[in-house]
Amino acid sequence: MTIFDDLGVHPVINATGPSTRLGGSRLPPEVLCAMHEAAGEFVRIDELQAAAGKVIAEITGAQAGYVTSGASAGMALATAACMTGTDPIKINRLPDVTGMRHEVIIQRAQKYDYDHAIRSVGAQLVEVGFPDLTFAYEVEAAITERTAAVAYFPTVSRPALPLDQIVNLAHKHDVPVIVDAAMELPPPESLSSFVDSGADLIAFSGGKALEGPQASGVLCGRADLIRAVAFNHQDMDVREPTWTYAAEVNAGELIGPPHHGIGRAMKVGKEEIAGLIAALRRYVTLDHAALAAGWRGAAEAVARGLCGIDGVAVAVVHAPSTGMHVTHARIILDEVALGITAYGILEKLGTGEPRIYLNEDEAAAGVLIVNPMTLSSRETDLVVARLQALLLPGESGRERQTLVTAQLPEA
Ligand SMILES: *Cc1c(COP(=O)(O)O)cnc(C)c1O
Repeated sequence: MTIFDDLGVHPVINATGPSTRLGGSRLPPEVLCAMHEAAGEFVRIDELQAAAGKVIAEITGAQAGYVTSGASAGMALATAACMTGTDPIKINRLPDVTGMRHEVIIQRAQKYDYDHAIRSVGAQLVEVGFPDLTFAYEVEAAITERTAAVAYFPTVSRPALPLDQIVNLAHKHDVPVIVDAAMELPPPESLSSFVDSGADLIAFSGGKALEGPQASGVLCGRADLIRAVAFNHQDMDVREPTWTYAAEVNAGELIGPPHHGIGRAMKVGKEEIAGLIAALRRYVTLDHAALAAGWRGAAEAVARGLCGIDGVAVAVVHAPSTGMHVTHARIILDEVALGITAYGILEKLGTGEPRIYLNEDEAAAGVLIVNPMTLSSRETDLVVARLQALLLPGESGRERQTLVTAQLPEA
């Protein structure tokens, strides 16, 4: 009896890749073991974060690192750090941004759903350029004494100015660049390439390709900004004489500790910190070529399994420029010939037994995507069998005919 059985919650098959709404990734034994060990002892979280930060710095090549509760929290904390620095008065004031640099510039081409994390701490987005075209002068003209940071989201298929150019423009005006690299692993080289590009803070998700705890993430970058992240984030039920930074207060370098900051609501436990570090250390030792070959094999198995079905074409795709760095299967449906829409298939998959979830990004265009990252080979076979049952003509065909009639707009 598992905890899920006990709660009456039934596990599902996840063919979407590591996604938060379905539980992130499967944790490898090394990660679970680290979390288990961490759970049984007390530790100073600031010391643990500092030690974890050293490991992150070694692996990424950044000056410093920090464990967050996810890439989204990483972007929120990065934004807060750029607005407040280590000034306790500003830290206490957020999300009220009075008296602070509080604008974050973003290319309109890179607008995306996670920019709410940037806005959540009080910052205001300043959008520049057209949805598919940004000129460098537009970024530069938007930089003022109100600018806290320039945000960069690499996972976008619309044309945008490249990161190195954004870094040059921003640094010319002493403005930091924050990068949401949540979708950039694999390739593993991304762990250091964004640091190498000169970006000031880079956020990764711990619960995706890293296969760390679902509620964990990595933030890496400039040491002064990482310290500002810690001040905005850590539990500040502290007193001046015993605070970790008492010496700096005594020396007049800090005016004192802040109270609980805006990041206090994005807590990271010792278990997540330990698990994330174990996951990161493991990730850099993995045979990434073998992993990629395995994913390709699974995508090809989907293509083979659906080969020859009328109204169905499957493309095995590796297209990093679309933000999908993992070879996946695109199942292109002729919805009229099949008598069912892609959403109709998704609905059936999501109500069968076991329930199966596919990537829905292109469902409106009649395309279903199988991301093999989170599938075991047995699960891949199950996905193929269910898709065959739904897409092959026969008994289920009649059901499809009724569905599509119901979905067609009235003439
Ligand atoms: C998944 C994702 C996030 C959020 O990552 P979490 O670790 O779940 O907070 C942020 N940005 C992008 C682009 C993502 O894909």
